[in-house]
Amino acid sequence: MAQRVRLYVDQPLAAGQSLDLTADQAHYLFGVMRLGEGLQLGVFNGRDGGEWEAVIAETGKRKGRLNVLFEAAAPLVRPDLWLLFAPLKKARTDMLIEKATELGVARLQPVATDYTNAERIREDRLAAIAREAAEQSGATDVPEVAGLARLGAVLDGWDERRTLWFCDETTAEEPSVPTPSPGPAAILIGPEGGFSPEERARLRALPFCRPVSLGRRILRAETAAIAALTLWLAGRDFP
Ligand code: SAM
Repeated sequence: MAQRVRLYVDQPLAAGQSLDLTADQAHYLFGVMRLGEGLQLGVFNGRDGGEWEAVIAETGKRKGRLNVLFEAAAPLVRPDLWLLFAPLKKARTDMLIEKATELGVARLQPVATDYTNAERIREDRLAAIAREAAEQSGATDVPEVAGLARLGAVLDGWDERRTLWFCDETTAEEPSVPTPSPGPAAILIGPEGGFSPEERARLRALPFCRPVSLGRRILRAETAAIAALTLWLAGRDFP
């Protein structure tokens, strides 16, 4: 069976609502997915309920229109889990955004650390990757992709109620893994070069920070992110 086409839209959703498509959306639906007038798809906006059934009312080369029919599925609520990560090389960062979105992270926060080697990120690009991953994974919202910020500044403004699971490969002698905590949580993954001694010392002294090990092997940052998110999610009821 062909996979159901789903589209994130940044417009209000309600039965009877008409949606004008952007040029990119029209290209995706009519050029890539080869949909035509009268065919149905799922739409969501992360605000108005969950997934809505919509029908294609008009097609065009760089435009088109949908009519919203009814709410087809309830919202799929993301756990209050953030991922803090140091930007990696382009393809690795893309993969990390995609996988974290699929796994259900609510917010992606790129952080510049002492040993980060990619100092620039394209927020719009990362947001588009998150959007596509949300569309294909059955999500009914898209995680926020925040702008790049210094790790120190992010920690300065931290809400202490949010547990920070600090993935530290030097913790191998005291194995422990991220576990679901009752309140909000975040997972921190370092860059290819790891954390500096100063960063490690500061993180370990913070009351809301819990250093954790993902085993004796050194994992690539994107592998570490997927493993840590999976471990945190594994103890929850059907994430
Ligand atoms: N500093 C290391 C080195 O050069 O040998 C490698 C850092 S690793 C590639 C990137 C990040 O993944 C680390 O900063 C850490 O957050 C996470 N990580 C990798 N392996 C880990 C492990 N076994 N336990 C906990 N975190 C790990």
